[in-house]
Amino acid sequence: MVQVETKTVVEPIVKPFDCLHYIDGKFVESVDGKTFNNVNPVTEEVYGTVAEGSAADIDLAVKAAKRAFEEGPWGKMTVNERSRIICKVGDILEARQEEIAQLESLDTGKHLKFSRHVDAPRAAANFHFFADYMISIGTEAYQDETHNALNYGYRRPIGVVGLIQPWNLPLFLLTWKLAPALAAGCTVVIKPSELTPMTATRLMGILKEAGVPDGVVNLVHGFGPVAGSAINKHPDIAGIGFIGQVSTGAKIMAEAAPTLKKLSFELGGKNPNIIFADVDIDEVVATTIRSSFTNQGEVCVCGSRIYVERQIFDEFVERFASKTRELKVGDPFDMSNDQGALVAKVHYDKVMSYLKIAEEEGGTFVTGGKRPDGLDKGYFIEPTIITGLDDRSRCVREEIFGPIVTVIPFDSEEEVIEAANNTRMGLSNTIWTNDIRRAHRVAQKIVSGLSYINCWFVRDLRTPFGGTKDSGLGRVGGSHSWEFYTEITNICVKL
Ligand code: NAD
Repeated sequence: MVQVETKTVVEPIVKPFDCLHYIDGKFVESVDGKTFNNVNPVTEEVYGTVAEGSAADIDLAVKAAKRAFEEGPWGKMTVNERSRIICKVGDILEARQEEIAQLESLDTGKHLKFSRHVDAPRAAANFHFFADYMISIGTEAYQDETHNALNYGYRRPIGVVGLIQPWNLPLFLLTWKLAPALAAGCTVVIKPSELTPMTATRLMGILKEAGVPDGVVNLVHGFGPVAGSAINKHPDIAGIGFIGQVSTGAKIMAEAAPTLKKLSFELGGKNPNIIFADVDIDEVVATTIRSSFTNQGEVCVCGSRIYVERQIFDEFVERFASKTRELKVGDPFDMSNDQGALVAKVHYDKVMSYLKIAEEEGGTFVTGGKRPDGLDKGYFIEPTIITGLDDRSRCVREEIFGPIVTVIPFDSEEEVIEAANNTRMGLSNTIWTNDIRRAHRVAQKIVSGLSYINCWFVRDLRTPFGGTKDSGLGRVGGSHSWEFYTEITNICVKL
């Protein structure tokens, strides 16, 4: 019989490129001409340069955004005209999904299966959702019979907003902020992560093609303490939409305080995944594989603390470990792999340091715990399951943001609720049980912004998304995003 060779490596249709700023509708170099290198996380080779922005570049971008807000056509357009342009951005992104997915995988090291399935389609969906949402949303109104008056809320855009972005889902999360900001009529200055500049840069050309007027969206590359800090302090920026680490959120808040900016923060998590004994273990294992290792564990709602009721602890660990061992790590463009590389050396070193901490703390590596054999280059780490640690462990308390989970047994509902709440973070949790009353009871007792019952990362864009405690400030999604990017005036009319 003739053997047919199955080709599993996708031939890229994209090439890495040098990234410039985009200010007032033009791609430009930094005022001082400075650049930094963009490194391929799979080969560890430099594959491009990025303009390195300073306060001077941010100032030019803010000036362009302010002019566009005050004098340009954007503010004079009807809601329907703006909605059509925003919808067109979504259409172009949808038509160019493969290019976007490949660029994202190239820049972040994430597997193409994930960027094709999540990053690229979600970027398009964010524009389509807010294009529709903005033309259907109403306003609040109260008939005051005591004073014979009518009160209604009139909303206007807040002005120029700064969007400071992370590297884990670069275009998906940027568009999650940009689409509602544009829908509300704001103009924007973007600072993407220095680790993943490519898809944000590519988006700028797409915005132009869709008809977004010059100056409405501006982008400055660079590092947080310089370009990011200049956004925090700029007096003409009215609000900042930020996604990133808790510690960075605190710095932004401190630097933005003197100019009293509106702030929307989506920050880190240390999310508990609680599994009661009455579940279908196969179903739970299948989803727990995703909630643990999707995007190399670099999704803010990944469940890295897994609590399992003692009766099924051993069986769960065995089945979970067996499925985890089947995951293949390697080239993100090889479709026979499941997991790609971590984004950069700095993050790889951080995640590896937690493997050392786990060892020192007496943890048992059920799977992983090292670089995959045979992969000498690239920031790859095996999917790792650790047992034998408790809530005192740094691996259980601190956000690692990599393919590492701890599994811990529990004996009672009260005990697991206490453990789940024993953290300064409160982004999300997942509860697995077929007892409907217990599911609701536990979800209401854990202090976090999101609770998934018998599912994970199921997203309806109309619902409030975000974290409580140290995990964030405010909510986004549907009316929550709308409220952030608009300011309300109450108009009281005597009848
Ligand atoms: P980070 O905080 O290191 O960087 C995020 C952005 O902030 C980058 O653009 C960076 O240059 C900029 N920055 C750094 N210092 C700054 C400063 N002083 N002023 C202004 N900007 C500054 O975060 P990261 O490592 O890129 O992203 C990973 C983190 O993001 C994780 O903690 C993850 O949980 C979190 N995250 C949260 C959500 C959510 O929805 N809650 C979603 C995705 C990621």
